[in-house]
Amino acid sequence: MDKIFSGLEELGFKDLNNVELFKQENENSSDTKSKNEADPLNFLYDKSFTCPVCNNEIKAKSVKNGKTRLMSKDSDLMPRHEPINPMFYDVVICPKCGYAALAKYFDKIKHEQTLVIKSTITPKFKSKTYPEIYDVDIAIERYKLALLNSVVKNSKMSERAYTCLKLGWMYRLKEDSENELKFLEQALIGFREAFTKEPFPICGMDTYTLIYLLGELSRRLGLFEDAMKWFGKVIVTPGVNQKLKEMARDQKDLIK
Ligand SMILES: [Zn+2]
Repeated sequence: MDKIFSGLEELGFKDLNNVELFKQENENSSDTKSKNEADPLNFLYDKSFTCPVCNNEIKAKSVKNGKTRLMSKDSDLMPRHEPINPMFYDVVICPKCGYAALAKYFDKIKHEQTLVIKSTITPKFKSKTYPEIYDVDIAIERYKLALLNSVVKNSKMSERAYTCLKLGWMYRLKEDSENELKFLEQALIGFREAFTKEPFPICGMDTYTLIYLLGELSRRLGLFEDAMKWFGKVIVTPGVNQKLKEMARDQKDLIK
């Protein structure tokens, strides 16, 4: 690797002929800190769960608290994090029985529901070993297994809707707008049901955040009249968060 650093002599760097440009640091080297910081594995750990269906002890890849930064949110509230996407690791799967759910719902299953999973999911389920780091395609597969489980166990509408919303977002990352809209449409149907039947907060959203989301999903699906009604509710109701009102106004202007 001769002379690649020639020209740096005036900056005080002479005799750099022996620097190897693509030298691999070995794991134990004290110089690996900066390399490790960029390694996705550095943001992950194995979180322990007990499967509520078969009592199996599970280790699920999870993102360490406070390790990722929220960079922005799309207009339908999809968060964009750096340096890794925590949503890729949202689903916990039991490799023994095939029960799968978003981590926040994993324990929230009734005894009758576990029986349905055992009789419907478990006999067909084939376990799969995933790589250490997940990508969007792995995430989609895992979300779909969670969605199937939520249908089989007859979950709350909001759980199914939320899983569909996340699937829509995954397809957005893949720039597959056909599938994105397909899942956003299902999310809209589910959240509309949940809105009339479930107590708030719903999936962590207060009333007007969900109303805004219903508006924005309607807008994205071309249901402009519905969207205007939902946004209108956010805009005219006193006491609603100003930021949310502004977002509703902006999205309403887009329709006009
Ligand atoms: Zn299990």
